[in-house]
Amino acid sequence: MIGNDEHPNCPVCQARFRGSAFCSRCGADLRSLLLLLDHAYGLRREARKELETGDFGRAQELAEEAETVCSTQKGRDLWLLSSWLLSSSEVN
Ligand SMILES: [Zn+2]
Repeated sequence: MIGNDEHPNCPVCQARFRGSAFCSRCGADLRSLLLLLDHAYGLRREARKELETGDFGRAQELAEEAETVCSTQKGRDLWLLSSWLLSSSEVN
């Protein structure tokens, strides 16, 4: 499932994306976008798990991959957090 705050806009007409297979405004086929969103969401969930276990390097990799698949503000924050934790742990 996709979190409520992770819905981007339709890539064609920029209408608010509501998680349906087709855009309600322009009718664009959004199924492939949905798959990407789902994939990115799974990667970010894995990244959070790695953060909890303290594997910041792996977390950063996963967060970066999620950003490549589908960039969101939350995903960007997660990547920044992972990067910061990683550099902090390297200093100590
Ligand atoms: Zn549209």
